[in-house]
Amino acid sequence: MRLRNIPGARERIAASPFVVPEEEMKEKRGKWGAVFGNRNPLYLEVGMGKGRFITDLASGNPEKNYIGIEKYSSVLLRALEKREEREDLRNLLFLRMEAEELPLVFGEEEVAGIYLNFSDPWPKDRHAKRRLPSRQFLERYDQILAREGKIEFKTDNRPLFDFALEEAKAAGWKVEACTFDLHRDPVLSRGNIMTEYEERFLEKGNPICKLILSR
Ligand code: SAM
Repeated sequence: MRLRNIPGARERIAASPFVVPEEEMKEKRGKWGAVFGNRNPLYLEVGMGKGRFITDLASGNPEKNYIGIEKYSSVLLRALEKREEREDLRNLLFLRMEAEELPLVFGEEEVAGIYLNFSDPWPKDRHAKRRLPSRQFLERYDQILAREGKIEFKTDNRPLFDFALEEAKAAGWKVEACTFDLHRDPVLSRGNIMTEYEERFLEKGNPICKLILSR
């Protein structure tokens, strides 16, 4: 998702207490607990878009910390506007960053879980390594994820989902759960939190696929 450039977006993001400044992110590596002021487990959504999923998740789980990651300022600003309506939340921060840099920003085993929702499909073969469930990204997640940590991935894009399954198996990850129709799956649909894209594709009648990976 790339929204039209919003004048002043970067300045508004820079002034927000809910976004960690880009120049400070790397010095927080291994110390995110201190940033939140507790030792609660830390979860990331990589490519959060407009932030509905992670804001709702953080709201329902105050005993966990959450960081939403998004590379575009114009998109992150939309998430921030939602976040500002929830000033009571103490457990949710945002980073404007490129996900390739995750191992520079989070320490080994510092992250308890990672959510990937409706990641950009990058349909051309030569762009496969840009896909967030690619083996190249799985390698980055492996560096920061706790031993028992899991990756949860949702998409309506079947070729991307099949790619994710193949990449996970090739990289030695275990498929803990998998469904090709999340909203008709009595177990995996329980407690499901919708994303902006999920709502849109569900309305069109597209089945939503979900998998959960562990090592
Ligand atoms: N997760 C949201 C949802 O389900 O509604 C947004 C989905 S949107 C298709 C994918 C988002 O991931 C976009 O906002 C895009 O800018 C972001 N994104 C894609 N690749 C990224 C990367 N390498 N680093 C950070 N953000 C990325």
